[in-house]
Order: sequence, then C-alpha cells, then structure tokens
Amino acid sequence: MNKERKLIVAGNWKMNKTVAEALDLVRGLKLELANVKEVDVVVCPPFTALEAVGKAVLDSNIRLGAQNMSEHNVGAHTGEIAAVMLKEFSVRYVILGHSERRQDQKEADALIARKAAAVHGAALKPIICVGETLAERQAGEMQKVLETQVRGSLAGLTGEQMEESIIAYEPVWAIGTGQTATTAQAQEAHAFIRGLLVKMFNETVARRVRIQYGGSVKPSNARELMSQPDVDGALVGGASLEARSFADIIKNSI
Ligand code: PEP
Repeated sequence: MNKERKLIVAGNWKMNKTVAEALDLVRGLKLELANVKEVDVVVCPPFTALEAVGKAVLDSNIRLGAQNMSEHNVGAHTGEIAAVMLKEFSVRYVILGHSERRQDQKEADALIARKAAAVHGAALKPIICVGETLAERQAGEMQKVLETQVRGSLAGLTGEQMEESIIAYEPVWAIGTGQTATTAQAQEAHAFIRGLLVKMFNETVARRVRIQYGGSVKPSNARELMSQPDVDGALVGGASLEARSFADIIKNSI
C-alpha cells in the first residue's frame, strides 16, 4: 500500500497474558512477521510481562510499548510506574488516555497532557487515545468531543514532540464490540483530527503525525481501513491476542 506516512500497528494486550503466555505470543509473532519492514509493529503487554517480552523482541522488528505511565518521575506514588522503569525494559511507546482508563480511572485530558509531557521528557513516544461514545455520536457531538480531547490531551506539546507522537482515534462504541467504524466514518474523524493539528501546530506537523484507528480491527477489515488517506495504522485490542490474527492484520495492510 502506498501511504504518505509509514503505517504503525500496535497491539494493546490490556490485562491479558501471563509471562509464559506473553512469550508464547511473541514467539509466534516473530515467526509470522520476520520479513515485515513496511509497517512499524508494536506490542503493548501488561507491565508484568514487559521485561520478558522486551528481551524476546530485541533481535526483531517488533517494538515494545506500555499501556500507561505515571506523570511523575519518582517518589511516593503507590502503584505507579515511571518512565525510567519502562526504559529499563526497552519500552519505546506508551499508550495514554485509553478510553478504559478515561472511564475506569477517570483520567482527564489535563492528566493525559502531563503524562504525554513526561513520556516525551524520557524520549519515548506516546500513543494518545481519543474517541467519542455512542451517545455523543448520536447527539451529533463527535467533533466537539474530539476537539476537546485533542486540544486538552496535546496541550503544551511542541511541534517537534507532536511529530513524534501518535494519535489513536478509537470510537468507544467500536472497542471490543465487533462493531467497526465504516471506512467513511474513520476517514472523516481522522481528517477532522488532522485539521485540528493544522490549527494547533501547522500544516507540516499535521502532515507528519500518524493517526491510528482502533475499534474491532480484524484481518478482514484492516486493508480497507488503512487504505483511507488519513488512517495511518491501527491500535488493536482483541485481535492482537493471537499471533495469526495480529500478523494477518499487519500483512493485509501492506
Ligand atoms: C482497544 O482497546 O484499543 C481496541 C481497539 O480494542 P478492540 O480491537 O478489541 O476493539
């Protein structure tokens, strides 16, 4: 597929996989994806499997991501994980503001922006998630919600940092539901987000930022979604838990 930006496909394993299961999955992925150079491939295991998976992918084209990170660098923050700890395990990417965390942990845009600053401060790359709920879409508020989240979650980033960031558009109604956004719905939202980046930064920055689509991506719909001009990859939940389906999403998008 001839794209303006290099595709980036990331697997969000969420709270799945013991260390043994994670190693099993990553061994399978290394075999399936050994020759893939056209797409940046990232896996995001739970914290407990980062060390093992980090070692396992060292000699491969697979990069490591975490699912969250503290805004703080060190100290009295029980249960939190700092950038320097992630870097010990060769983590390169950090998912921020996933809708499950926005909902369950009440993460707000301002916190996500502070985390994004911390991620960049450690020379890691954030994957910043935004997306509307079904009720918001049905109320005609999709653009308003996306604008609030994008402006709030990216507040304070420099143009240079923005270019090194990834945005994941994940309509909440499509996550884990099997109900994928249509290609037209995905393209519309992605183009809207890129338009916001033009206003917030400039044309050059906006043209360089990769915007992933997330929400029930499967091998059967990956190609069509990623063929849209403003869809630059995918953030994959359920289908990333099995080597064959995650690898097929990547192969089908090339
Ligand atoms: C996700 O949680 O980021 C996600 C997109 O999940 P799924 O692919 O299962 O819809």
